[in-house]
Amino acid sequence: MNYKLLALGGDGIGPEVLESGLSILEAISKKNNLNFEISFDLIGGTCWDKYGTFCRNSTIEKAIESDAILVGAVGGPKWDAMKIKGDPEEQDGLMCLRKKLGAFFGIRPAKNYKSLQNIIPFNKEYVQNSEIIILREMCGGVMFSKPRGLKLLENDERYGFDTAGYNEFEIREFAKCGFELAKMYNKNIISIDKSNVMESYRLWRDVVQEVSNDYNNINLEHLYADNCAYQMIMNPKNFDIILACNFLGDIFSDLAATISGSLGMLPSASLCGSPLNKTKGIYEPVHGTAPELVGTGMANPIGMILSISMMLKFSFGLEEISKKIELAIDKTLQKGFHTKDLKGSCSTNEITDHIIKELKLCL
Ligand code: NAD
Repeated sequence: MNYKLLALGGDGIGPEVLESGLSILEAISKKNNLNFEISFDLIGGTCWDKYGTFCRNSTIEKAIESDAILVGAVGGPKWDAMKIKGDPEEQDGLMCLRKKLGAFFGIRPAKNYKSLQNIIPFNKEYVQNSEIIILREMCGGVMFSKPRGLKLLENDERYGFDTAGYNEFEIREFAKCGFELAKMYNKNIISIDKSNVMESYRLWRDVVQEVSNDYNNINLEHLYADNCAYQMIMNPKNFDIILACNFLGDIFSDLAATISGSLGMLPSASLCGSPLNKTKGIYEPVHGTAPELVGTGMANPIGMILSISMMLKFSFGLEEISKKIELAIDKTLQKGFHTKDLKGSCSTNEITDHIIKELKLCL
């Protein structure tokens, strides 16, 4: 089989972890008669420095022609501080890519690893075997809605504003995908909002509830986001799937990383359609560009490698190989090979080599 991929390393540690991910692809392609035709391009700050834009139209065209897109991470102090006028798509390359591809269905799994029990801030009995999937809407909500801006008030004070808006269609399509995923994995859903104080979240709660009527076997609960944050940390085992808007999903996926031991462990998929169909998606680790780690060889590549595993499952239907990558990571961690964020001493390249070694044994 031949698959067309677009690889966008981005900024900071993005290119370093992407390189690890691509060496995993190389290892599986040889053994499984798969051909990954990979083209490379710039996104984020490095793209700005060369072309004066965070994401070029030609990159979007390449992404449209690809079967899947791999991204490292984007941003850094140099570019975050720039005041660029326009829509969010013009201010952030990754948001542009997500929006223009319509990659609205974000899947961000976090799991607890037996071999990392000693480094997580939880008592073992509260967290053992827990697995939380944050489903994050990726193309709407307060990060995209208008009006937004900065203006001068009559008293000469500056006033910054955003709009937390969703339309019914956006919530419905996202929630449907969430219920489909819950059905696939036989999981419960907790939908989070602030419907006690915000109008847009009242609509969110109503529409999610309506969608649930078509999925009688899936248990749905609604929680206020602040209470959910507290409950999730107190009792991570009680959580399966959390359904969240763009903004809350962003925060809750970092929070869920605590059960995995490091933000560097979390993968993500942003699908352009239902998880039931093999659909195009953007695959990237949840973490950012970690500027302080650039060039130190200390970046944990597991979030990126697991993102590759998600790509094989969700975009290409290669579930078996996807599971083997997860197994190879489990075995590597069990043998005590950990990066610095996991209180170990392996470099990015060393842990990648260990994972490839394990992978070759099970392919
Ligand atoms: P960050 O995710 O880069 O870092 C947060 C913490 O996690 C830091 O302590 C960092 O060292 C650690 N960390 C992150 N990835 C790691 C890895 N792979 N291995 C080991 N440790 C890791 O978040 P931040 O510091 O808030 O943001 C830094 C930059 O990244 C900013 O410019 C921000 O805009 C950008 N950012 C990009 C994305 C993205 O591209 N998806 C997401 C979040 C932040």
